[in-house]
Amino acid sequence: CGIVAYVGHREASPIIIKGLKRLEYRGYDSAGLALMNGGLSVYKKKGKVAELEAFIADKDTHSTIGMGHTRWATHGEPNDVNAHPHYSSSKNIAIIHNGIIENYASLKKLLIEKGHTFDSDTDSEVFINLIEDIRINNNCTMPEAVRLAMHEVVGAYAIVVLSQDSPNQLIAARKGSPLVVGVGKGEYFLASDATPIVEYTNDVIYLNDYELAVINNGELEIRTKEDVKQTPYVHRLEM
Ligand code: GLU
Repeated sequence: CGIVAYVGHREASPIIIKGLKRLEYRGYDSAGLALMNGGLSVYKKKGKVAELEAFIADKDTHSTIGMGHTRWATHGEPNDVNAHPHYSSSKNIAIIHNGIIENYASLKKLLIEKGHTFDSDTDSEVFINLIEDIRINNNCTMPEAVRLAMHEVVGAYAIVVLSQDSPNQLIAARKGSPLVVGVGKGEYFLASDATPIVEYTNDVIYLNDYELAVINNGELEIRTKEDVKQTPYVHRLEM
């Protein structure tokens, strides 16, 4: 339902929590976030963003990269386990996802046969395990694995992926669900609409369907799912 992600020079978690609150108007049943605080950590809770905030209050959330989500359940009841982010089986990568993966049942069956394990009932956890499976089978980079996975999934999605092996990298992709990139000075924001971004920057890029945005070590690159590099159009929002 709601997506907020950040990478830059500031603490990510307060920006993400504040951003998720700005997206509360969309409605949701649970909230969560993932950070790089030594390793890839996921914190998530059924209920309001305030409950997630209370849950992480005594945790070490220091990180300058992270992603958060408010979930509106479509596959699996609203509970802590089905809340996003979702790890892959190896727990090396995590995803937040807005939308519905229509062919998740057949993909899940295949992935289980290949040894992947699942904690939740969500279609989103299938997406991240598919990405992991492709990465391992092709021995490719994470952005390449996400790009190839976009050819396998049917449905609607806006996703952000974080991986343990690339602690300065955010990967985002969309088809049918909105995703906005905010371009700051030495920092980037990702969100499902511009509401959480506008207080930090006026410069936004609206990702198009079947596009992939990779923010790696402060550089943004946008490619299509056919691997064609795009020249991003930066909109200047009127404040
Ligand atoms: N289909 C996903 C789920 O049920 C994402 C729902 C959403 O857009 O929040 O977890």
